[in-house]
Amino acid sequence: MTRQIRGVIFDWGGTLTPWHDIDLVAQWQHYVDVYAPLDESMAERLMAAEIAQWRDQQVTNGAAGTGTLDHIWASVGVDVSSTRHRAAMAAYLSAWDPHTLADPEAKSTLQALADRGLLIGVLSNTMWPRSHHEQVFKRDDLHQLIDAAVYSSEIPVAKPHLDAFTAVLSALDLTPEEAVFVGDRPWDDVYGAQQVGMRAALIPHSRLGNQAVDIAVEPDAVLGSLGEIVGVVDRWMSEYDAARGEVST
Ligand SMILES: [Mg+2]
Repeated sequence: MTRQIRGVIFDWGGTLTPWHDIDLVAQWQHYVDVYAPLDESMAERLMAAEIAQWRDQQVTNGAAGTGTLDHIWASVGVDVSSTRHRAAMAAYLSAWDPHTLADPEAKSTLQALADRGLLIGVLSNTMWPRSHHEQVFKRDDLHQLIDAAVYSSEIPVAKPHLDAFTAVLSALDLTPEEAVFVGDRPWDDVYGAQQVGMRAALIPHSRLGNQAVDIAVEPDAVLGSLGEIVGVVDRWMSEYDAARGEVST
């Protein structure tokens, strides 16, 4: 049974932020420059640990989760109780600032959806703590528009595992049919959301992570830009109203 749409749930990286190609070793070097500046191989080891966690997430279809930064620190023997570590982590996270800026259409898009009375959620595969994501959303003035966010760093699974999607649906008190998912990865986002019963819109600008997938994923909509989701949702909502004969002219 079809239901009227009550909420829209967004992926974060590459969806609410524009897609960037990132040099992961260079990012980790910002950590090493503070924590162990003389260690010439530590950035490579940190990157290898990070890549291993992403690989686990991918090969298990999210059942293994993404893990957290704590798993990475542990795997390279960082003393997480040290002041040096806390300063290095701050340097590492702030090195990401230019890459975490919201899409220029993000605020107006979320506001337009909120103005329609829709709930707004975020479901992100991330190793970063919630506190950092919340700082990023506050910096870009999106925080007050997000009703619930689920980060894989806080749950045992990650997208495309269905438990990741049901976690955010339950945080918003939505059924799958009442929710639309928006993401940039055909497998993790679109397939993942559809298998739970959500409609899913694709913003096709990620060049990562889907090459190995040999099933055909068919998004319910393909967006040329983030803001186009508003018109797509409007159309789906009016189609529902029309089907129920509730359109008044
Ligand atoms: Mg993404």
